[in-house]
Order: sequence, then structure tokens, then C-alpha cells
Amino acid sequence: MNSEYEMTIGIECHVQLATVTKLFSPADNDARGKGPNSVIDPIDFGLPGMLPILNNRAVELAVIAGRAMNAKIANVSRFDRKHYFYPDLPNGYQITQMYHPTILAGLVEAPMDDGGFVKVRIHHAHLETDAGKLTHYGDYSLVDLNRAGTPLIEIVTEPDMHSPQEAKAFAAELHKLMVYAGVTFGDLYHGNMRFDVNLSVAPVGSTELGKRAEVKNLNSFRSVERAAEYEFKRQVALLEKGERVVQETRGWDDASGRTSSQRSKEDAQDYRYMPDPDIPPIVLTNEQIEKMQENMPQLPPFYRDKWSNLGLDKSVIDSLLAHQSYAVLISTIQDNAGDEIAKRVAHWFASGVSTDEETAEVASNFVPEGYVELAKMVGANELSSTAAKEVFNELLVSDKSPRDIAEEKNLLQVSDESAISAIVDEVLTDPASAKAVEDFKAGNEKVIGFLVGQIMKKSQGKANPALAQKLIREKL
Ligand code: MN
Repeated sequence: MNSEYEMTIGIECHVQLATVTKLFSPADNDARGKGPNSVIDPIDFGLPGMLPILNNRAVELAVIAGRAMNAKIANVSRFDRKHYFYPDLPNGYQITQMYHPTILAGLVEAPMDDGGFVKVRIHHAHLETDAGKLTHYGDYSLVDLNRAGTPLIEIVTEPDMHSPQEAKAFAAELHKLMVYAGVTFGDLYHGNMRFDVNLSVAPVGSTELGKRAEVKNLNSFRSVERAAEYEFKRQVALLEKGERVVQETRGWDDASGRTSSQRSKEDAQDYRYMPDPDIPPIVLTNEQIEKMQENMPQLPPFYRDKWSNLGLDKSVIDSLLAHQSYAVLISTIQDNAGDEIAKRVAHWFASGVSTDEETAEVASNFVPEGYVELAKMVGANELSSTAAKEVFNELLVSDKSPRDIAEEKNLLQVSDESAISAIVDEVLTDPASAKAVEDFKAGNEKVIGFLVGQIMKKSQGKANPALAQKLIREKL
């Protein structure tokens, strides 16, 4: 990275709300796997005489999203028409909130890998409809309006990020907040959250921001990071050559890792915004807002705080937080069985689950009792840590008890002293051990590992190794 220049990043993020129906029509809001133009209503394709009716659940989810971003909610907000011509927009305007958004200023603190946080102020977030989708084939294009009218909130940050890593950390944290709060399904592959990265560069120490370019429609945290890296290099190279950065919208190509110019950026006046006369304003009293927010699920910052005394690495915490069901489970175990047990189970989940944003959950068993029992069995030396991991892997997808699983797999550790003692005798008198026994007696402590290994082998891994070692020492 060129150290004479510094980058400034603001992010806009469109979040698809997890409602049953669309923002202003009764059409199904889940178009996944459905045929083109099959989940639409006259309201979505703008038939004359149609009258939009606001979906109250979308408003509720916006109010909840606001809380998740520590934002104020407007007591009065309303919708505007944003005009432009495009074949995927049958009304000729998008319904959005230009002047009076529902969600006002807020703050998101996103954890960084070095243990610090990047604080990103939210400027506002507004409710709006999505457009349809065009697919281009050679000399013609087809339009699918299934997505037209889908409820979105568009979250707009202040330009508070100054590195690709900060942009990525913010995107990842925002995704967690929205998913945990139940605002969205957060399916990135299906575009449930799409990030636009606004980036400008300026000489270090400059008080003026440079001209910015906006990279549109990034649908992974990694592409947010890579697009920011690429734009920084591209803009610095232009400035170094004495050229200027054009204010424009750019697209991202994930395969080549490059951005490319799409169109110059419109100014607000080009859209001829006007209040939508068909839709009454949203009026919410403080009591109504509180009621909507009162039964919200716990969010990632709550769990980070709750787990802070467990001594978990950040990578472990990240793995757990990647799945809300894991976070809830560990938190419940912590409440029911204490920190030590929660910590043990946390490590199993962290090493057994992927943090990959596109990997589906593998576990189906979220009943705390089995995991608690398994952790206690390890604590009581009934299972080795390797055997416990094997039981855990089955427990994840089973409703059997860990003891039954361990018995079936013949994994229970033998801690019965007389049983192990017999094996120890066998190993110590075996001619194959003669050299090791002699060495040990001569003061070479290291060979005890070999002897314990022989005992583990003879017992098919079931002898308690600590007990075996104690017996060897006693006998020699
Ligand atoms: Mn928008």
C-alpha cells in the first residue's frame, strides 16, 4: 500500500427484509427457486389504478434494525418517488425515503483481528422497494419482476473507514447484527445483503476528501475488502500520473479482481424526487417503538461481552458467532453449567464448524444437556480428548446421549486401576520394552512416553494415559 495517500471509505448496504410479502403488495417476498414473473402483483408492475398498501411488518423490522445499529427511530417518516427510466422499473419510479427516513443516526462498532474495533457512524437508513432484474442475451434482454417491490432498508454510513480490513470488518458485523436481529435471512448468495463501497483517496494529512468512486453490488465481505484494495491502487495511480479521479459508479468483477466504469453518478436533482401521494406517512410514538424493540434476540456484542471471561481466542469467538444457533447454545450452557463447561463445548464447536459465510449449518442438535454431559465425562477422565471429539461429531446430528454414543463406539476410557495395572505389567515384561525399561531405570525420563504409547496401543486407546503413567512410575 502506498503510504503517501490515505483512503476514506463509506458504505451503503441494501438489506432485504425477512417479511412474508412485499413492501406494498401481497405478493410472496421469497422468490428463490421460483419461475420468472411468478411472484408478482399488479402493484409490483405498476398497473394503472393500483394502490400501494404499506406492509407493517417491514416497518417493524426497520425499527428493530435501527435498534441493532444503536440508531434513533423517527417518529414521523414518509415515502418519496425517485424517478428514472429503466425496463426493470415498471412504475418509472422507485418508492424510497429521500427526505424523512425511518432510521436516523446510529453507530456500529465492528471488531478487528488485532482486538480493536472500528467505529462506524450510521448516517441514516431508509425503507425502499427493490427493482426487477434484467438478463441480457445477445441482442435482446428479458425482465423478471419477482424482485420488484421487495422491501429493503438501505443503510448509509458516514465515511469512517480507512482500510480495506475496516470495510470488511464493518460489512461482516453489519451482516451479523441484521441476521441476529431477525431483520433479514442474510443469504448473501441470493443477494439478501448487497454492499456499495464509496472510496476516495487523498494525501495523508489532507483535510479535504478526494473525489470518490462507488463500487456497486458487492455480495461478500471478501469482495468488499478486495474492491477497496483495488480502488485504492487505481486511484493512487491516477493521481501519481497527474490525472484525476472521476466521480462515477463502478462494477466489480470477482474473477479478475478489478473494478470497471459503469456510468457517471447522477445528482439528486436528476431523480426529480417528490413525496409519494398514495402512501400516508409512518407515524410512530415512542411507546410503539419501544414495544417493537422489546423482545429482540441478543446481538453479537452481548455474546462477546458475556464470553469475555472464558479466555477464548478471537478466532474461536468468530466461529461461534458465525451461527446464531451456536451462540445461543453456548450462552445457555454457560448459564446452566458454568464457565468451564461452556469453554470446553465452545472449543468443540469452534473447531468443528466453518466460518465460511456460504457454508450451511451442519449441526441439528441444539439441546444443551448432551454437550454438558460430554464435557463432564471428559472432566472425569471417562473420555480422552480425541474420543470426545469423535462423540461430539456424532452428537451434533444425533439425539442419543453422549454416553450411549461413547459405549457404542467403544470409546469409554478405562480408569479402573486394576485393569490398567494388568496391561502395564504386560507391557513392562514384554521383551520389546526391555530397552526402554532399562533406559528409564538409568534415569532417562523421556522413554516413559514410549511405554505409555505401548499401553495405549494394547488397550486400544482406552486406558487413561495419566493413570498409566502413574502406574509405570510406581512399578519401576
Ligand atoms: Mn437504494
